[in-house]
Amino acid sequence: MSETNAAEVISVGTELLLGEILNTNAQFLAQELAQLGIPHYYQTVVGDNVLRLQKAVAIGCERSRCLIFTGGLGPTPDDLTTAALADFFQTPLIEHPEILADIEAKFARRGRIMSPSNRKQALLPQGAEILPNPTGSAPGMIWQPRPGLTILTFPGVPSEMQVMWRETAVPYLRQQGWGQGVIYSRTLRFWGIGESNLAEKVVTQLRSTNPTVAPYAGKGEVRLRISAQAPTEAEAIALIEPMQQEIVSLTGTDYYGMDHDSLASVVGTLLKQARQTVAVAESCTGGGLGAYLTHVSGSSAYFRGGVISYDNQVKVDLLGVREIDLAEQGAVSDPVSQQMAAGVRERLKADWGLSITGIAGPDGGTDTKPVGLVYLGIAAPNGQVESFCYQFGARDREFIRWLSLCTVLDLLRRKLLAAND
Ligand code: ATP
Repeated sequence: MSETNAAEVISVGTELLLGEILNTNAQFLAQELAQLGIPHYYQTVVGDNVLRLQKAVAIGCERSRCLIFTGGLGPTPDDLTTAALADFFQTPLIEHPEILADIEAKFARRGRIMSPSNRKQALLPQGAEILPNPTGSAPGMIWQPRPGLTILTFPGVPSEMQVMWRETAVPYLRQQGWGQGVIYSRTLRFWGIGESNLAEKVVTQLRSTNPTVAPYAGKGEVRLRISAQAPTEAEAIALIEPMQQEIVSLTGTDYYGMDHDSLASVVGTLLKQARQTVAVAESCTGGGLGAYLTHVSGSSAYFRGGVISYDNQVKVDLLGVREIDLAEQGAVSDPVSQQMAAGVRERLKADWGLSITGIAGPDGGTDTKPVGLVYLGIAAPNGQVESFCYQFGARDREFIRWLSLCTVLDLLRRKLLAAND
């Protein structure tokens, strides 16, 4: 498809430019356009200003055949999308009595009287069709101001926009011949390998054109997104699957799951398969590991529980950590993390015990034990206990806590995979 066959999203709202709200409407529409297989090369954000909005229209219709607006359909003077569009295409605004009646009825149902300012929401450029808004007051429009150009407008409120998009805009676009194919994507997730190392392993795959493979890094993990363009979803998946298998065989156990999988859900599945349970002893993550494991529905099948042993006396009383090790080695140490893991495994009668003790900062670091130093313990079903020392660096407290709990889950995942072999 040529670039002019593309759709362009134009988000209207000064609050977007000020960074007061996140442009989730553009994200939603981008994902929807990709799924429909409609090319989409540009997004614009413009404030509540007629001239700048009209400039965005002038540029947009040079390079795209469908302009999708969100925001600026409300009743207040700064809501000016419809009027600015009508003026740009020199088309008169026409009042639609059916829109007025609908807005009045919606107000009446809520026991309110429509204010005169809402009248402007019943105005659409001559020739535009109503894009009904079943859950809010302002409708949008579907308009072809000139041959080969389609304009869709939606209110800014995300829930209203999404219903209107799905119920009316998508069927309309399909009927007009847009979106004959699909772009389907799958995300592969990796833990324990850096972005550049991973890129080296899959260097050939990164050159592929359909499907494409692109790396992303974030929150301690690396992801590879495989996207395929094809006439149907099934054909796109058929292009993706061999590529996925190739990548998984090249990357081994660094690959942990895809799409909505998380380390917690993947570990949960492996524990269920092995009919085993886990218990956790946490110091620096303060319950975060237990919370993460129990995000997964059905986790009671394998998660026994946990001890948040922040205070040293709690480590002694509830986990059986030796006072002498705490005194001589400190709470953030190899013997203490081992004893925490072994203690919680034994006392909570689990197959596996995990422990986390570390310095999440920003205070509390010393020369010998700097911020980011974390010991992760793991006690196995055969009673063997190990501890692993990590230096996550002087990063943000939440990030150190997140890396700690993901890394200990990844250690358990690798042990469970090895036990399966
Ligand atoms: P209304 O009929 O409610 O006045 P509107 O079409 O005039 O809607 P705006 O006033 O621009 O829309 O935005 C209404 C609300 O919708 C904003 O306060 C904001 O919370 C949300 N919103 C607007 N644009 C976006 C966007 N691009 N992404 C996410 N949320 C948005």
